[in-house]
Amino acid sequence: MGGTHAVVLGASLAGTLAAAALVDHVDHVTLVERDRIPLGPAPRQGVPQARHAHLLWSGGAWAIEALLPGTIPRWLAAGARRIGLPDEVVMMTPQGWMPRFAGTQFLITCGRDLLDWVVREQVLADERVSLHRAEAVGLIGDQVRVTGVRLRDPDGRTLWELPADLIVDATGHGSRAHRWLADLGLGPVLRRTVDPGLAYATRVFKAPPLLGVDFPALNVYADPRQPRPGQTAILLPIENHQWIVTLSGTRGGHPPDDAVGFVEFARRVRHPLIGDLIATLEPVGPVYSSSSPGNRRWYFERLPRWPQGFVVLGDAVATYNPAYGHGMSVAARSAVALRDILRRYGLRRPDVARRAQRAIARAVKPAWIMATGQDIRYPDVVGEPPSLATRLLRRYLDRLFTVARHRQMIMRALTDVMTLSRPMLSLLHPVTTTVALLTPERPPLADPPLSEWERLLSFGPRADINLNRRCL
Ligand SMILES: Cc1cc2nc3c(=O)[nH]c(=O)nc-3n(C[C@H](O)[C@H](O)[C@H](O)COP(=O)(O)OP(=O)(O)OC[C@H]3O[C@@H](n4cnc5c(N)ncnc54)[C@H](O)[C@@H]3O)c2cc1C
Repeated sequence: MGGTHAVVLGASLAGTLAAAALVDHVDHVTLVERDRIPLGPAPRQGVPQARHAHLLWSGGAWAIEALLPGTIPRWLAAGARRIGLPDEVVMMTPQGWMPRFAGTQFLITCGRDLLDWVVREQVLADERVSLHRAEAVGLIGDQVRVTGVRLRDPDGRTLWELPADLIVDATGHGSRAHRWLADLGLGPVLRRTVDPGLAYATRVFKAPPLLGVDFPALNVYADPRQPRPGQTAILLPIENHQWIVTLSGTRGGHPPDDAVGFVEFARRVRHPLIGDLIATLEPVGPVYSSSSPGNRRWYFERLPRWPQGFVVLGDAVATYNPAYGHGMSVAARSAVALRDILRRYGLRRPDVARRAQRAIARAVKPAWIMATGQDIRYPDVVGEPPSLATRLLRRYLDRLFTVARHRQMIMRALTDVMTLSRPMLSLLHPVTTTVALLTPERPPLADPPLSEWERLLSFGPRADINLNRRCL
């Protein structure tokens, strides 16, 4: 193979987006993936979390659109939903139900397999990108420069080396980048965790006949300020007229994996809306359950020395409590950051990989602060207490959500940041801070903000159900 060559390890979302980011800067990109990749939108072993509900915030969707123009229309044509935020989201935050003001942002909802497949198809359609099935087992090079990757073929025996000008590790939360760097004499890499002991359970249901297309997304968040495990429920309308429901619980409050317990748990979170809604629906498959380490971040950018030719992104750098829905959007924004650094400095500049790693750290930071600032409050959480700055920010965010219950401009500022569409610093705009601090507090909405027809079509003869009967 002549010319310049980049190798991307892992062909899930971060890997395929990294390939899209690199393709105009090298002659060829090889995607190396351990799994057999299905031809269509189908589950696979390497991405077990794909069974659970995945939403993509607008900040992430626009980042993907910047790398692969036309992706949003392709998702929608394949059955995904574009759900306006906050107008099409019925959301109970720690501060209560949020009103459905006019939409200023959005989320894309569909099965994760479909989301990945649409991206993968576009990336692999480019003849400068090829896919190779193998497992990455180590780096080749020294402390100054990584020159290739050591691979093991699917037979488990054949080991070989693939040289490259740039290696991108996108192998997800099980990445061994920290160990590979240590093998080169670089490290140790600083790691931080805020682990609330999360577990999830998911089930897909057939949407009621008249409700699949226009029904809002429903999200009952936990309240980490309460001295009990955090329990959440989310319902997302997805392709094929189905609703995917994911329940989650922190240590001591995990959701069960049986059908009856699933509905009971959904009724026991801070509001029973989702449990009541799915109680009479026909399930499409079994309940899937799993657990995860929650928030974990590797600070690669802080290593005193960084080798040329090596970059890490996606879950391989940081994972977050999925309740905040940030992992894929951060991966997309990190791929854009990589592309922008290559555009600015070119592949040949010796410090380009280090610059890219620092830019990726900047893309990670807002999601990390938002997730860990909240999760550290849960009982029995394992992790370091947050800094004073994070604690102050958290108080300010609490205040913003309280005011957003009735001030549209504050809601807009929050959703801009929540969707990773604007930087966190935008929340400190003088108008926003003045309104946030001076607006008198008003009580939250008593009921979930469903329209009359949504309520009627959801509950039919049970439409008189008292939706306000419990609100913790
Ligand atoms: C329950 C749950 C729900 C979530 N919900 C959301 C959500 O709503 N919104 C959101 O934005 N994010 C969500 N996330 C996070 C999201 O799943 C991840 O951020 C996203 O998948 C990151 O993609 P990735 O490509 O970095 O890693 P992964 O998707 O984990 O992919 C890693 C890839 O690398 C391959 N691989 C691994 N090791 C090797 C190796 N040695 N050699 C070759 N290939 C290898 C794997 O087979 C896999 O294909 C959720 C996560 C969980 C656990």
